[in-house]
Amino acid sequence: MKKIITLSILIGGFLTTYAQSEVDKVNATVSKSTIESQIYFLASDELKGRETGSPEIDIAASYIANTLRSYNVKPIGENGSYYQNVAMEKKKAPTALKLRLNNQSIEDLILLDGQNITYNGNAIFLNYGLEEDYKDKDVQGKVVVVKGGSEKSNDLRGSYRLSVVKKALAKGHGARGVVELVTLDDSSWASMQHYLGSDVVQLSSGKEVDNTDKFFQIWAKDTNSDKANTIVSAKALKANISIEGRKIEQFTSRNVVGVLEGSDPKLKEEYIIYSAHYDHIGVGKPNAENDSIYNGARDNAIGVVTVLSAAQNIAKYPTKRSSLFILFTGEEKGLLGSNWYVNHPVLPLNKMVFCFNSDGGGYNDTSKATIIGLNRTSAGEHIKKAATNFGLTAIDDPAPEQGLFDRSDNVHFAKKGIPAPTYCPGFTSFDAEINKYYHQAADNPDSLNYDYLVQFFQSYVLSARLIANDVKTPFWTKGDKYYDAGKKLYAK
Ligand SMILES: [Zn+2]
Repeated sequence: MKKIITLSILIGGFLTTYAQSEVDKVNATVSKSTIESQIYFLASDELKGRETGSPEIDIAASYIANTLRSYNVKPIGENGSYYQNVAMEKKKAPTALKLRLNNQSIEDLILLDGQNITYNGNAIFLNYGLEEDYKDKDVQGKVVVVKGGSEKSNDLRGSYRLSVVKKALAKGHGARGVVELVTLDDSSWASMQHYLGSDVVQLSSGKEVDNTDKFFQIWAKDTNSDKANTIVSAKALKANISIEGRKIEQFTSRNVVGVLEGSDPKLKEEYIIYSAHYDHIGVGKPNAENDSIYNGARDNAIGVVTVLSAAQNIAKYPTKRSSLFILFTGEEKGLLGSNWYVNHPVLPLNKMVFCFNSDGGGYNDTSKATIIGLNRTSAGEHIKKAATNFGLTAIDDPAPEQGLFDRSDNVHFAKKGIPAPTYCPGFTSFDAEINKYYHQAADNPDSLNYDYLVQFFQSYVLSARLIANDVKTPFWTKGDKYYDAGKKLYAK
C-alpha cells in the first residue's frame, strides 16, 4: 500500500514538474519588451501599412527574416535565403475611361477587362447577353451592349457572377468588346468601384501580356435602366469608347520561411506550421485626425509576433516535432501568398501535420483568445488548456455564419487536408470596438493593451509546445468539412 502511494506521489510529482517546466519555458522567452518592439516596428508609420507591391513591405520581410536569423531559425527559402518569391502582377486602373452610346455619354464606368484602345464604330444591343440572345445575330467585330445580371438576378453578386459568362459568350462570338448596363444601387456600385475600379493585385498569370488581345469589358451604371430603355428604341447603335493609362506590371513579392528541426528522432519527421500574414492595406483615405497610414497593428503585426514568439521559444527549447514558420505576403489582396505557398511548398505537404495560423482584425474581450476552428481539430484541448494556464479562456468562432474559417490563409492548408485553425485575439462579436480599428488608420501600436498581449502570446506558445510534443498527431474532428481531405493527404 505504502509503496503504491509513494509511487503515485512520485508520478504525480513528476507530471506537475514536467507540466510546470513547459510553462517555465514559455515564461523564459515571451517578454513584453520584445513584443512591443516588434509590433511598434512592424506597424510603424515608416512601413506605410505594408501594402503588397510597396517598397515598405520588403523592409518588413527583411525585418522578419533577420529576426528569425537572430533566433537561429534556419532559412529554407530560395538560394539559402529566408525568402520564397511569389510572382504577382498589378493591373493598374485606367487614368481615363470614356463611353458614349449614340452620343449619350455615360459617366459611371468600371473597366473589368481590357487594354488601352479607342473604338468608334457599330454596337448591337443583345438584351441580357446570354446564349439565347446571340441566336441569328452577327456580332463579329462589334461592341455588344447588354443589361447586367439576368431577369432573375441583377444584384451585385448575380451581376458579377454572370459577367464572367457574358464575357466568354461575347468573346466566343467574335465581338470586339462587351458593355454591361448594370442596375446596381449607389452603395453596390461604390463597393464594386472600390474593388475593381482601383489597382488590382493578383498572382501572376505566368503569361506575357498579350498585346494583340483587344477585347474589353466595361460596366456602366444604369440604376433605373434609363440608358437601356433609350437604346432598345434606337434604330442603330454606335459606340465611342476610349481606355487610357491602363497598365499591367509584373513584380515579385515574398513569403518568409524558416525551419527548426524537432528533437525526437521519429516525430521530427512531422512538422507543425506556424503562420501569419505580414502584409496590410497600405496608405488610404485620411481619417478625421488626418491619418492616412493604415498601420495594421492588429491586422496583422500581432499575428506575425505570435509566430516570432513561437520561433524564439522553440529555437531555445526544441519541441519533438519539427517547425516550419511561414509569414505570408498578399493576404489582403486575396490570400495570395498562402495560395502560392500550398502550390509551391518548400517541404512536402503530407509531412505538415498541423497549421497554427494567426490572424485577426481586433479584439473586444481581453479575457479571451478566439480560435476560429477551435473545436474542429483534436488540438483544441491543448489550446484550451494553454489559455487557461495564462488566465485566458479559449473560445471558438463567435460568428460561424461569417465564414471566417474560409477567409484567412489557413483555408488553403485546410483544403489540402492539413488541420488549420486560426488563432485570434479575443472577440465575441463584430461590434463598434472591432469596427473602430478593423482596416482603419486607427489600428496603430499605441492603441494596444500589451499586458493582455503577453498573456495572448504566452498562451499561443504553450499551445504550440503541447501540440508539437504530443505523441498523438493532431487531426480533424470526425465529420468536419475537411476530414476527408485530411484522410487523403496522409493516406490514413
Ligand atoms: Zn485584414
